[in-house]
Amino acid sequence: MSSSLSPCIKSAIRREAAALGAFRTGFALAEPVDDRAARQYADWLDSGANAGMDWMRRHELLRRDPRLLLPGARTLIVMVFPYRQPDGCHHPHIADYALGRDYHAVLRERLTRLARFIFSRTGAISRACVDTAPLPERYWAVRAGVGFTGLNGQLYVPGAGSGFFIGTLITTLPLAPDEPVENGCLRCGACLRACPGGALSATGLDARRCLSYLTIEHRGPLPDGVRLGNRIYGCDVCARVCPLNAVAPPAPLPEFAPSSEVMALDRRAILEMTTGQYRRLFSHSAIRRAPLSQLRRNASHH
Ligand code: SF4
Ligand code: SF4
Repeated sequence: MSSSLSPCIKSAIRREAAALGAFRTGFALAEPVDDRAARQYADWLDSGANAGMDWMRRHELLRRDPRLLLPGARTLIVMVFPYRQPDGCHHPHIADYALGRDYHAVLRERLTRLARFIFSRTGAISRACVDTAPLPERYWAVRAGVGFTGLNGQLYVPGAGSGFFIGTLITTLPLAPDEPVENGCLRCGACLRACPGGALSATGLDARRCLSYLTIEHRGPLPDGVRLGNRIYGCDVCARVCPLNAVAPPAPLPEFAPSSEVMALDRRAILEMTTGQYRRLFSHSAIRRAPLSQLRRNASHH
């Protein structure tokens, strides 16, 4: 395998990724994250802002070096796939990203096809990562020149907003990295001011106050004083108020079209849902991340 193949195979990989639905694809060297990012993450953990997500601390060392996730790794190929719905109005609130099919399965299938393509052309092996491996995906998306992060912590693709899932292939194929793009966050603070939980600050997200974390990840009773409003699963406020999202989003992958049954759910339907209905309705949905008891907890908590 020679890096002299790089320009040609890079173009071929980009084309293949686009054919698989990637809106943008970038390349980064597989190497440890820089000291600044590692320190910021350690400080963030030390502040307790990861709330009950203990796995974040357990995997801290793994997150620092993608080569630990695939021996012989040389390159990260980072792709973004659009999901954002143009009108996104539904009640009670379920996060835009969870209205269609589970992105883990959808992206994994596409990334696996790209991994096979790379293997067939070069013999290189690859590992697909979709939000479950200990990999700081937004950091690598920035390093690979796919986008930049806003004050709200979201990844933005220049001119296309933040409505994207990130999928990454770690591969043993050596490829030239892409240049990062300029950070286009306006630093207007609209996301910080609008956050209903007061979870955002210049130092980042405090998951203990984030209604997305509390509705999806937090088990057991909600902390005193938390107001969910109409939120059942997630919270899109910091993305919706952002002027960088006042663009026509690219068409979502067909699998992410909202399920009419999910869109039709109301508070009462959730409170009265049986286990069988929950399993059937959410068998291919990211909403399974929250058990039925938790959806009911959210539906009965205003
Ligand atoms: S709302 Fe303003 S500060 Fe927040 S991410 Fe968007 S542009 Fe940046
Ligand atoms: S998801 Fe909602 S609660 Fe969490 S940081 Fe964004 S606006 Fe705040």
